[in-house]
Amino acid sequence: MDCLKELIREVPDFPKPGINFYDITTLLKHPGGLRTTIDEFARLFHGRVFDKVVGIESRGFLFGPQLAYAFHAGFVPVRKPGKLPADAVSEEYALEYGTDELQMHRDAVEKGERVLIVDDVIATGGTAEATARLVESCGGTVAGFGFVVELGFLNGRGRLEGYPVESLVRY
Ligand code: AMP
Repeated sequence: MDCLKELIREVPDFPKPGINFYDITTLLKHPGGLRTTIDEFARLFHGRVFDKVVGIESRGFLFGPQLAYAFHAGFVPVRKPGKLPADAVSEEYALEYGTDELQMHRDAVEKGERVLIVDDVIATGGTAEATARLVESCGGTVAGFGFVVELGFLNGRGRLEGYPVESLVRY
């Protein structure tokens, strides 16, 4: 999707030297950018049934609810530790230095439900993989992953082998 690629701003050395940050706020502020993004996901996943769309904090929240609307599904937030008020499941995942953790309400996904996991960017795939483990620990089935941007050179897709993965813009 070259038209979407043009709307994504690249910010060198953010948040630290050596990181090229893909900024989707420039896509969101464009009148047609968000609509095209959601329409394109709907086209790529056409015919598939999802009971829940899971958005990963925080930029997954900018696209997930609209995909839930498009697929007549519920929306579930996956959050950083300590943010969810009710009983939650947790998954740790490795970062370049140290570990991080994500949480989801234990009752957010029911056994046998089909789930689409959404985020703005897939880099190494660690965040997405941890989110799949959260869904599966509650008995859900990961029926797809959707990313606006895929950093193909980091091969995050390799960690999601066996799952349907769609991305709109690749670098
Ligand atoms: P990863 O777990 O390595 O796939 O990292 C994915 C998460 O980090 C997503 O939630 C992204 O929002 C964020 N992220 C990683 N790398 C970038 C980048 N170069 N530009 C923007 N966001 C990024």
